[in-house]
Amino acid sequence: MSEKRTEIREIGEFGLIDHLNEKVVVKNPSSIKGIGDDAAVIDAGDHVKVITTDLLLEGVHFDLAYAPLPHVGFKAVAVNVSDVAAMNAIPKQITVSIALSNRFSVEAVDALYAGIHAACEHYGVDLIGGDTTASRSGLVISITAVGEAQKDQIAYRNGAKANDILCATGDLGGALVGLQILEREKQVYLANPDMKPDLEKYGIVTARQLKPDARMDIIHELRELDVVPTSMMDISDGLASEIFHICKASNVGATIYEDKLPIDKQTFDTAVELNLDPITCVLNGGEDYELLFTIDQKDFKKLEKHPDIHFIGHITKAEEGKFLVTKSGTAVQLKAQGWKHF
Ligand code: ADP
Ligand code: MG
Repeated sequence: MSEKRTEIREIGEFGLIDHLNEKVVVKNPSSIKGIGDDAAVIDAGDHVKVITTDLLLEGVHFDLAYAPLPHVGFKAVAVNVSDVAAMNAIPKQITVSIALSNRFSVEAVDALYAGIHAACEHYGVDLIGGDTTASRSGLVISITAVGEAQKDQIAYRNGAKANDILCATGDLGGALVGLQILEREKQVYLANPDMKPDLEKYGIVTARQLKPDARMDIIHELRELDVVPTSMMDISDGLASEIFHICKASNVGATIYEDKLPIDKQTFDTAVELNLDPITCVLNGGEDYELLFTIDQKDFKKLEKHPDIHFIGHITKAEEGKFLVTKSGTAVQLKAQGWKHF
């Protein structure tokens, strides 16, 4: 062993995944897609299965000071379903593994599972197994989701090509702004427990943070309209970071337009109130769990009138780079700050 010590933050989360991936050799022909997309893809004869997993830690991914246990359970399922959706697949099964410290009672576990069951109902998935163990510090939840699709329906991150149209669903930045409000109210409460948190006015943004909904509705609509995105991923780390992923995987560039970026009014107003730049929230806020995808121009007509799909820009050649055209018409280099865990 060399004596060199490299801090994980020097290479970052994505750098670490790339580093781990260097030593991975896929042996089985049924492993169609391994590391590097929202979910892995496995050959299942006449169709393919997708499989994805996410790990949520108390104190890192959720704070029980303001996140009710049923919401944590729902969100833990939704974030996995979102990665299945990001492959253009339909979720079918999940496994749920939990680690619990003795702070948690059976009633608390029931509250967590009430949210998990509600999500299973909402997304039409079956809970088929898991694992349970003790934890030294707080609650840990790991969920794995399995989905299905036809092989030619799968949307990878690497299929975008020049002149494709970049699309984003819903609105962005709300989950980050909601988190800032929840953190602020928590500090107010800690300083003075008699103060009742004033959250009514922030209902939309706090819900975006506490109870995100994976966009399976969009996946079903794309099917009905007979549109297969040329590339797709979900927006979990921030729009700019996800555009970088699609550009890197597809070896393309992208131009997006500030005036096309979708932002909800409450998100905008709350960002301003918090002294945050709303566009920065849209570009770099995490956890919105909307979909980012590209379509061939021939499919534009089919989606043109969709109220919740926004055409935010287009794909260019790799050498043209990645740009944001501001409202005043200036092109500025897009920066991907992403959501940093390290
Ligand atoms: P997402 O944000 O869509 O959940 P991630 O950024 O977590 O995706 O992961 C990107 C890719 O890296 C996925 O293919 C995932 O399975 C893989 N990955 C993440 N962590 C590890 C790990 N520790 N070992 C192997 N593969 C990993
Ligand atoms: Mg994803």
